Amino acid sequence: MSAVVKMLSHIKSLSFRIRLNFPQQYFRFISSSAAQTLTPDNLILADGLLEGKRYCLARCITLTESSRDDHKEQAALLMDYVMRKHSDSKTSHNSANGNKHGTAPPLFTSGKTMRLGIAGPPGAGKSTFIEALGMRLVARNHRVAVIPVDPSSHISGGSILGDKTRMEELSKSPHAYVRASPTRGVLGGIAEHTADVITLCECAGYDVVIVESVGLGQSEVDIDHAVDLLLMIVPPGGGDGLQAQKKGIMEAADMIAINKADGSLALQAKHTRADYSGSMAFVRQKHPHWKPAVLMMSARTGLGLDELEGKLAQFHGIMSECGGLEAKRMKQAIHWMWSQYRRDIVRYWEDKQFVQDKAAVLRQELAAGRITPRAAAGKLMEITKSHN
Ligand code: GDP
Repeated sequence: MSAVVKMLSHIKSLSFRIRLNFPQQYFRFISSSAAQTLTPDNLILADGLLEGKRYCLARCITLTESSRDDHKEQAALLMDYVMRKHSDSKTSHNSANGNKHGTAPPLFTSGKTMRLGIAGPPGAGKSTFIEALGMRLVARNHRVAVIPVDPSSHISGGSILGDKTRMEELSKSPHAYVRASPTRGVLGGIAEHTADVITLCECAGYDVVIVESVGLGQSEVDIDHAVDLLLMIVPPGGGDGLQAQKKGIMEAADMIAINKADGSLALQAKHTRADYSGSMAFVRQKHPHWKPAVLMMSARTGLGLDELEGKLAQFHGIMSECGGLEAKRMKQAIHWMWSQYRRDIVRYWEDKQFVQDKAAVLRQELAAGRITPRAAAGKLMEITKSHN
């Protein structure tokens, strides 16, 4: 019985986390006492975040990434608190509210934030591109947050590019926030925390959030669960490895940019673009209102960036207007709810002593080849059910 009560309270705390795009009445309903139960320190952090203080944002992100139970509870309350305050506040920092720091007109004008996902093989030029695009967006009065995530961190054991100095110029801009190696120590970085981190950045006044995959590929689908638009960056040519990934890339991408279309690679980039454009005809369209674009650019020289910006704005405008953006975000919220629930259920049960004891016995049987992993999992399931 007590297990059921614990489970219910667990699910209740989970409900705080499924707030990504639900109506405001919902937040008010579930959050009325959040401010009272946040610790004073965390309340200060939350208020600092809402004022756009970067170090507060960084510490709030760290809190949401923590796996300690008390931190998780505080993180849920903090998320709820900042979301409610942010939506109540009419003093958002973003360009739509006339807070001007740049000289050019904003690119995204629907009043909605832009969540842009960038994926592509290592070395394709993702960070060079984000630096270039980020600076252009800052000049257009946007506030830009960059969240590098490493979906393969559970394989590589941490951010493979953690020590690399990346996006130096953008990092220095007062209107940009570049989070360094956020997935270190967190298993399955993207799946677990990215949605929360995006929300925190938006509440801190960043109206463009760029989620960059710094993993080892195979990450397109993961990233797409967190963003409005997935831009794949690929280098000209590409060996067999890239060919093998090509289908996955094309199915997941809303836009493909062939980078490094400069110098001696320019001609090859043209061929690669034609190749992708041709193959695109055979791929099922992701949204009825959007035909994925294949572009050519040079993040280094800036060639093609005007066209690319135009396409980003077009996508954001069309998808905001037709309701596609809302629909996708709602679908993502449901996805996060289930994936969080699955993880929490597993954690909840696997910590139990009787499960650990049974697993120890099964380990020996597995080692002796007396049982298959599938059957062993079945035994764990049986014993779990019998305690319910
Ligand atoms: P990432 O691993 O995808 O983030 O790739 P990087 O941005 O670190 O770039 C990898 C290498 O490609 C670096 O040496 C960059 O200077 C180079 N690079 C990036 N963009 C371009 C480009 O547009 N043209 C050329 N020629 N090189 C580029």
